[in-house]
Amino acid sequence: YTIKKAEYLLSAAWTSQWPDESLPEVVLAGRSNVGKSSFINTITNVSGLAKVSGTPGKTRTLNFFNVNDELRLVDVPGYGYAKVPQKMIEQFAEMIDVYLTKRNNLKGMVLLVDYRHPPKEDDINMYQYAKYYDIPVIVVATKMDKLKMNELKPHEERIKRDLDFDENDTFIRFSSLKKKGVDETWDTILHLTGL
Ligand code: GDP
Repeated sequence: YTIKKAEYLLSAAWTSQWPDESLPEVVLAGRSNVGKSSFINTITNVSGLAKVSGTPGKTRTLNFFNVNDELRLVDVPGYGYAKVPQKMIEQFAEMIDVYLTKRNNLKGMVLLVDYRHPPKEDDINMYQYAKYYDIPVIVVATKMDKLKMNELKPHEERIKRDLDFDENDTFIRFSSLKKKGVDETWDTILHLTGL
């Protein structure tokens, strides 16, 4: 997939600020520090598109990115960050809930998990939530470069087992550092979006 254009569109704190539903969207979820900003920059080939590691998990908005005027990536701020007041967590969880259940042009979720570790409860909940609502998921296992070759398969199996991974979904071994998994990611996103 050739990226001719990738640009930040807007950040929405309220549903009224969401762009229209004319383009297919893929939502990106994952714990703070999993490598989500790096992932966005790597797959779009625009360094600094999603700024890497500001204050983790602080921005409580959905961030929309336009790719080739054909599809949108929708960044959900990283979860699992303790310093956000409970009230904000609840309000934001409700907005994500509305987005995931009501958005007509939502085609799938990219769930980023750290390849080095078993998924955390938050990751499992997010995956199961998507499965409950029949949202296809691309599980992107980040920081693959930090594992030894012989660790790749057992770690993949552990992550799949803990998530209760649906074999209709896709698991991608990814590294922003080594630019691994980029083509496979786009192939899967294009398949989901019907492009
Ligand atoms: P975010 O909080 O999920 O947006 O994560 P960031 O993209 O800011 O990355 C968090 C940290 O992990 C940063 O120090 C990155 O340099 C590092 N990181 C991200 N992707 C990779 C990767 O593929 N390999 C390695 N080794 N480090 C990575």
